[in-house]
Amino acid sequence: MIPYGRQDISQADIDAVTAVLRSDFLTQGPAVPRFEEAVARYCDVPHAVAVNSATSALHVACLALGIGPGDRVWTSPISFVASANCALYCGASVDFVDVAAGSVNLCPRALEAKLLAAERGGQLPKLVTVVHFGGEPCEMPALADLARRFGFRLIEDASHAIGARHDGHAVGSCAFSDVTVFSFHPVKLITTAEGGIATTRDAELAARMSLFRSHGVTRDPQRMDHPSEGPWYYEQQELGYNYRMTELQAALGLSQLTRLDTFLRRRHQLADRYDRLLADLPLQLPLRRPSAFSALHLYPVRLLPGRTADRRQVFERMRAAGIVVNVHYIPIYRQPYYQRLGYDPADFPEAERYYAQCLTLPLFPALTESQQDVVVAALRTALAP
Ligand SMILES: *Cc1c(COP(=O)(O)O)cnc(C)c1O
Repeated sequence: MIPYGRQDISQADIDAVTAVLRSDFLTQGPAVPRFEEAVARYCDVPHAVAVNSATSALHVACLALGIGPGDRVWTSPISFVASANCALYCGASVDFVDVAAGSVNLCPRALEAKLLAAERGGQLPKLVTVVHFGGEPCEMPALADLARRFGFRLIEDASHAIGARHDGHAVGSCAFSDVTVFSFHPVKLITTAEGGIATTRDAELAARMSLFRSHGVTRDPQRMDHPSEGPWYYEQQELGYNYRMTELQAALGLSQLTRLDTFLRRRHQLADRYDRLLADLPLQLPLRRPSAFSALHLYPVRLLPGRTADRRQVFERMRAAGIVVNVHYIPIYRQPYYQRLGYDPADFPEAERYYAQCLTLPLFPALTESQQDVVVAALRTALAP
C-alpha cells in the first residue's frame, strides 16, 4: 500500500526521544520551551505556546481572544472539523464562508460580501479563522484589510502550512493575524506524534494561551489577585485545561524541525513531478501562486466533470490498486452534527463543487519516484470512464 501521507522518523529523532526518557523530566522540563523558541525563531515571531494538539491550540487561541457565548465565528468549510469545533467549545456560534475556486482557501471576495450583509443585520463575526488548505497560503493582506475594516480578529489555522511563505513573511509570523496554529500530527509536515503550537506577536495573548493550556493556573506574581502566601503559592485565574505538550513530544519536534526545509524541498520536487506527469490528464491540478511558497501538505487534484469516471469509482479503483488516495475534506457543514445546527449546502457552491471532484494523491517526503510512477499509472487507468 502507498499511503497518502506518512511521517519520516530518523535515528536522530529516536535518539532525541530516548534521551528525554533517560532525563529527569518527562513533562514540564526544558525541551518544551526550547521547542517553542525554535518554532518562534523559524517563523520570525516573538511568542509560541506549545500544546498537545492543534485542536487544543485553536481552543486556547479562541479563549485568549475572549470568544464566548453570543459571539460569532466564521471559518472555511473545506477543512478538518477542528477548525470550526473550537468556536463551539467556547459557546460561540459558527458560520462558514465559501472557498475560492482556485486555491480552495476561504475567499476574501465571498467574505467581504458576507460581512457587508452581516453588517446591515448587526451580525458581524468577532473572529474569522482561515485555513491554509493543503499548505497554500491564503490571501492574508486582503483578509487583514477586512479584519481592520469590520473589526474582527483573525486566526490562521496553519495545520497544513508550517514552512510556507507569502508576501515576504513566514506563515506563523502573524504579520496579518492575531494567532497562527500548527499541527504536529504524524500526517502533517513535521510531527510530535500528537501536538500543536500557537504563535502570536501579542505578549498578552501568549500569556493567556499559556494560562488556558495549564488549568488556568499561574505562578507569576504579576498576574495574581492576592499577595503570595509563600513559595508554594499559585493561583487559578481561569477555568483552563490540561493541554500541555510532553518533553518527549517537544524533543521529537525539535529534531523534526531541523529537517523541515529538507522535507519541503522534497515535497516541491514531487509536486513539480506530479504537475508534469499529470499534465495531459483530464484533471485540474492544485493551484500554487507563484508569489507564495506552499508547504504542499496535500496534492489534491480535481476530476473534470464528464471527462472521467466518477470520483467514487476512481477512488475505489485506486484503493484496489493499493494506493491510499483520500478526500480532503467533506465540507464541515455536511457533517450530521453541523446539519443539526442547520446549514444549507447551497450557500457554499464552490465548496460543493470542489467536494464532488477532489481526490488527494500520495505526497510525503519518503515517497519514491518509482512509487509516484505507480500512482500516476494507476490514476491514468482509474480515470477512464
Ligand atoms: C489536522 C488538522 C487540525 C487538527 O490537528 P490536531 O493536531 O490533530 O488536533 C486542525 N485543522 C486542520 C486544518 C487540520 O488539518
